[in-house]
Amino acid sequence: MRVRGRHERGVQAMSSCHHEEMLIEMSRGCYLARATLPRTTGRGGCKGVAFCPGDATIGKAQMEHLLRAWPQVAAQRIKDQPLVVLTDYDGTLTPITRTPEQAILSSGTRSILQRLSRLPGVWLGVVSGRSLQEIRRLVRVTRMVYVGNHGLELAGHGVSFVHPQAQASRVILRRLAVRLKRALRGIPGARMEWKGLTISAHWRNVPRPAQRAFHHQIRRITAADAQEAAIRLTHGKRVVEIRPPVDWDKGQAVEWVLSRLFGSDDARRGVPIYLGDDQTDEEAFRAVNRRGGVSVRVGRPSRRTAATYRLSHPREVYGWLVELGEFLTVRRRGTHDRATGRA
Ligand SMILES: [Mg+2]
Repeated sequence: MRVRGRHERGVQAMSSCHHEEMLIEMSRGCYLARATLPRTTGRGGCKGVAFCPGDATIGKAQMEHLLRAWPQVAAQRIKDQPLVVLTDYDGTLTPITRTPEQAILSSGTRSILQRLSRLPGVWLGVVSGRSLQEIRRLVRVTRMVYVGNHGLELAGHGVSFVHPQAQASRVILRRLAVRLKRALRGIPGARMEWKGLTISAHWRNVPRPAQRAFHHQIRRITAADAQEAAIRLTHGKRVVEIRPPVDWDKGQAVEWVLSRLFGSDDARRGVPIYLGDDQTDEEAFRAVNRRGGVSVRVGRPSRRTAATYRLSHPREVYGWLVELGEFLTVRRRGTHDRATGRA
């Protein structure tokens, strides 16, 4: 096993307590020290410590890997219930890229989503920080709910919604977008996106020496409106989001979609599954957890998440969607055989 940096230190810590042989592979080169071992002192002790080559941190492995847990989850939690699969886009269905334009949905992922969307008893949705118009253009699957601007606008499956307060704040945000575009022009790598209801200011490609100036400009331009609570700022993966002052996030949008699909009647409830990779997805994880659903964080194992399962990369999300398709096909065949009296 080849591990570098902090992982190397983690492995040394394990070597010193002679427990290397207890490392088991979790997925794609990620390793978990068996939780049955006694914890040793010092950095990277042996009990439940995950080592993923390429990760920057060593964290407690609290989350089960969904591909490993899937047979049990499918048999015990999904069973024959209706299913709503909601997923983030960037970093979940597609890898994080240097620019938003490079995040293109693979034909394989689109094809499995198309297939799933046609199955009875299954509803699909994409919940993104991108605008509704853009996320629809990128995904292009017909029978699907599209949720844009972190839930402020959504459409599909016969529902459509734009948050009224977001609509009312559009003038202020558009004015800020014009000023920000001008202010960030001199900062290398900075990029501003006007998304109709919100603004994303990206600093992924801003070199370190210019990052301070980037954040200073954001604060300078937004300070007055933020102080008057006319806007609110949130932070994602190397992006600052400037939004209307609405207490509305991906979690509330997910609740809204689920209540439209299933109502509040417990008997009609299906199982919601939510996949996301970012801080903005945490409220959505909580929303599906409250309904007894399955929450899945895509990326490195993390201590600071409400998600109960994890997948390492969008490639594994694709792999899981394929598994889900197979499970649902077998389930459907079983239902059909029972209905027709075939063994
Ligand atoms: Mg994301």
